[in-house]
Amino acid sequence: MIKNKKLQRIILSALLLIAAVAVERNAVLPVWQLLLIYLPSYLLVSYDILAEAWEGIMERDPFNEHLLMSIATLGAMLIGFLPGAEPEFTEAVFVMLFFQVGELFEEYAEDRSRRSIAELMDIRPDTATVERNGVTEAVHPETVAVGELLVLRPGDKVPMDGIVIEGTSSLNTVALTGESVPRTVGRGDRVISGCVNVSGMIKMRVEKSFGESTVSKIIRLVESAGENKSKSENFITRFAKVYTPIVVYISLALAILPPLLSGDFVAVFPLWLNRALTFLVVSCPCALVLSIPLTFFGGIGGASRQGILIKGGNYMDTLAKADTVVFDKTGTLTRGVFSVNAIHPKAISDRELLHLAAHVERFSTHPIAQSLREAYPEESDDCTVKDVEEIAGHGIRAQVNGRSVSVGNTKMMDSIGAQWLPCKLIGTIIHLAVDGTYMGHIVISDEIKDDASEAIDALKALGVRKTVMLTGDRKEVGEDVAKRIGIDEVQTGLLPADKVSHLERLMKEKKAGGSLLFVGDGINDAPVLARADVGVAMGALGSDAAVEAADVVLMDDRPSKVAGAISISRKTIGVAMQNAWFAIVIKVLVLLLAGFGIATMWMAVFADVGVTVLAVFNAMRTLRVKS
Ligand code: ADP
Ligand code: MG
Repeated sequence: MIKNKKLQRIILSALLLIAAVAVERNAVLPVWQLLLIYLPSYLLVSYDILAEAWEGIMERDPFNEHLLMSIATLGAMLIGFLPGAEPEFTEAVFVMLFFQVGELFEEYAEDRSRRSIAELMDIRPDTATVERNGVTEAVHPETVAVGELLVLRPGDKVPMDGIVIEGTSSLNTVALTGESVPRTVGRGDRVISGCVNVSGMIKMRVEKSFGESTVSKIIRLVESAGENKSKSENFITRFAKVYTPIVVYISLALAILPPLLSGDFVAVFPLWLNRALTFLVVSCPCALVLSIPLTFFGGIGGASRQGILIKGGNYMDTLAKADTVVFDKTGTLTRGVFSVNAIHPKAISDRELLHLAAHVERFSTHPIAQSLREAYPEESDDCTVKDVEEIAGHGIRAQVNGRSVSVGNTKMMDSIGAQWLPCKLIGTIIHLAVDGTYMGHIVISDEIKDDASEAIDALKALGVRKTVMLTGDRKEVGEDVAKRIGIDEVQTGLLPADKVSHLERLMKEKKAGGSLLFVGDGINDAPVLARADVGVAMGALGSDAAVEAADVVLMDDRPSKVAGAISISRKTIGVAMQNAWFAIVIKVLVLLLAGFGIATMWMAVFADVGVTVLAVFNAMRTLRVKS
């Protein structure tokens, strides 16, 4: 059985139409009887459109495509009553039939895009295996609380975000990132919902409720992306507001003026009325109205399949015009995983220096903090750590067993008056002072991400004029990284506020009409992320602080995806432009033909439906767009 209501209506109405045509062929009937014969099939197929048109009139906002279709077809139904005019019942029903077919087609396409996004992202988990009182049971993830234990067998989807407490395995992140690189996890590692557990059995502790977990966030994000309309989408709305009344008035003029001027109104009026009605059918901007939002919907879906979440069509407009791209360093261009290269203590042992540093960093989410904690695994012993105070761009301070310990860069040391010693090694230097007395430093270094220089090259190839790196790290490290990956400009030793002022300067320096992108991980750079034309956040697999503030989220932390986001946006806008031009050119042509009486109602219908169908097909290409 055919489930779709609209399709049922279309088929039934078409059958009624055939029956009506058969009756008309076999009998010579007066016009009013013909009207009765065609009326059922007309009303069946068009009642909702007539109702919408009527609603528009009642709400004093009548000019929409429903009005165009209603006037045109009602006119065609009634034109036969004019002396000397041919009845056009079949045409009237056909116009409505095809209009409905067009809408059905668009519905189908949108539904397919929606399903294909959901399917390809394929991340919404149905069940979670939870361990309660020593028994495991499969429940809906929504009913699992933070802190409960989940068991993941090989093949299971990770239903919620959490931390592995037992076992090792490799996770497939393809649904999140579009790339099938396995990630090995073991005790203490964070796992993100939406990955698939491939090899081993693991136990994890839930850290976030289902609604707060990565999967739910992504799904919400993709679903609501349609609300942020792109310029081309807004343009259509404004365009229709101006265009529709103009078309209605022109067709009115077309019906009345030429007959008036001809001197014999009654004789030529039916002919011109017919032309005016054809003109109305042609003028319906369906292809535009239907295909352009669909294009952006598809583009956003296509991007999300590659691990690039774009929060709306409006950001595609801005991404496409990228002129300057600004990067944060730590966690963005570098991996944010530091290894300890050297420990240079003064008056205490290596171990003690590391011990103190790890303690102070106990509660920080900064990549440096995580790395120092890992370098000193016995970190959570029974020392008391109190009054932790993190000073962005400087470092961190806390009371450890009653003594004030400061950990950070030279700015931090200067601010408490500690006599710090310089270091000849290249790397990020973490100085430490206890109660204002210098205790030595730890040299740590980060690795450049393997696709960082590829990312810069790709941006250049796309015509980005300038790439910039802003970092709170020291000059030596920042400049070394910038040189190795080919960044145009680098600013080092910045506090979060300095990053904002540099960003504002760069906004002024960018090319007119171009846009500025900031790419960061959200740690110490959230204000800049929010202020840029487009904020791109690394970090769905790492920190999620930035996900909210950003306009674009790169699921797998790979900076090369920035270029991907730009080129997908350009391609999507390209398809939207193709559709707009195609629809408008064909429209104008047929409108002219209709005005001169060359196009028939039939041509008008085929032009309209044909263009709509082609435009919708074209729009759906964006779902498969490659970066
Ligand atoms: P980036 O701009 O490279 O992302 P940040 O602004 O996050 O760097 O940090 C700048 C500098 O501040 C670091 O290089 C480090 O010297 C110091 N710092 C920041 N947070 C910490 C911390 N938790 N522990 C030690 N030092 C820190
Ligand atoms: Mg950072």
